[in-house]
Amino acid sequence: MVLRTETPPVVTTEDKDLTGYVGFANLPNQVFRKSVKRGFEFSLMVVGASGLGKSTLINSLFLSSIYEDDKYPEGGCRLPQTVKVASSTTYLIEGGVSLKLTLVDTPGFGDAIDNTKCWKPILEHIDSKYEEYLIAEGHINRSTVPDHRIHCCLYFISPGHGLKPLDVEFMKQLHEKVNIVPVIGKADTLTPEETAEFKATVMEEIKKNDIKIYQFPMVDEEDEEEDTQDLQAQLPFAVVGSNTMLDINGKKMRGRMYPWGIAEVENPDHCDFISLRNLLIRTHMQDLKDVTNNTLYENYRCDKLAAVTSVSIDSKLAASNRNPLAQFEAEKKEHQDRMRTMKVGMEKVMEEKVAEKIEKMDEQRADLVRKHEQALKHLEKQRKDLEAKKKELADSLKQLEELHLASGVPISNSSSSLNSGMKDKSNSKKNKKSTKLF
Ligand code: GDP
Repeated sequence: MVLRTETPPVVTTEDKDLTGYVGFANLPNQVFRKSVKRGFEFSLMVVGASGLGKSTLINSLFLSSIYEDDKYPEGGCRLPQTVKVASSTTYLIEGGVSLKLTLVDTPGFGDAIDNTKCWKPILEHIDSKYEEYLIAEGHINRSTVPDHRIHCCLYFISPGHGLKPLDVEFMKQLHEKVNIVPVIGKADTLTPEETAEFKATVMEEIKKNDIKIYQFPMVDEEDEEEDTQDLQAQLPFAVVGSNTMLDINGKKMRGRMYPWGIAEVENPDHCDFISLRNLLIRTHMQDLKDVTNNTLYENYRCDKLAAVTSVSIDSKLAASNRNPLAQFEAEKKEHQDRMRTMKVGMEKVMEEKVAEKIEKMDEQRADLVRKHEQALKHLEKQRKDLEAKKKELADSLKQLEELHLASGVPISNSSSSLNSGMKDKSNSKKNKKSTKLF
């Protein structure tokens, strides 16, 4: 017997300079065009007690009245006793780029006398969005899976001396589920020294309680690293919001005017509004989405799968302790259950396929009807054109007749003379022929 040993293929990589333009340098442009065409989706959640300036800040961030005055999304007024989760979607367009912004508000959070478990509806909402995405990913048509997962949660801390027990509990319960960015609302009520002290206390408490807030990604470029460190050092962002445009010496600005001075929203010396806006919209929106997809959602998916697997392992362990007949019965039942689930699954797939086919056929039918209508319209136009031409001809004939009548020569005479002339010609031809014969 001859033994043949096969050597594994050797994979080599080396950099090669191209001698001409191939064209793949254009790939980023292709991705760019596709992304712009598709548009962007971002879901932002705001959590915090009423009156902390959440709605004002959101309006200031997106420079539009996303929140109506004193109204929550979906038109409901504030309900302070129970926590509700209300979302609203706004389409924003800037320079040809569209952003589908979903804002998720939590009216009533922290407003009740007993706030135990008031984070629960929020957690359930986040999980429900992950579940929705997980189900959508399992469908046949996965080309457009809508992403309603929460990409970032702005957690509003009340300006004061430290975190409240509810703040700690909320962040602990949700830090594995969503990117938390802590924010100090109404920062203009603190002096710069108080703000610095308060920020240090909050960060210390976050560390002490092992709370994982959003971590800025590691970057290679030096200046980007500096920016990231700057942002990290500013946490939690102390912000001021305002819906009022002030006119100071001809300069328009968003701010809050007091007898002792002005708190400018977009002045980095007054608050961290600009840093927060840059983080959310200009520099880290994609990273927030990536972390949501690659880490937080993956954790959710793994937990789900682990739960399913552990159930089947548990049932197998239980089976090993049964007598053979009972085991046979159990296995038979398990098999039947599996078959039933498969049948349901197949029926579901079949239904989906049929629905897809029907949808396609409907589209085709609509297309045919449209084409048919177009052809009818075209024919109708042609008919009208022909009728117009016919009318034109009739008119010119009438004019001709009138001209003849005016000149005194009756048309019948002229036509009869024309006919007689023609007859004469044919007779003379005949005569010519007959003379030839003679
Ligand atoms: P929400 O309940 O958290 O959405 O708070 P609102 O945005 O409705 O604001 C509640 C009140 O606080 C309003 O009267 C706002 O004008 C005011 N407000 C909002 N932002 C600020 C801020 O940054 N500083 C101060 N001093 N007041 C603010």
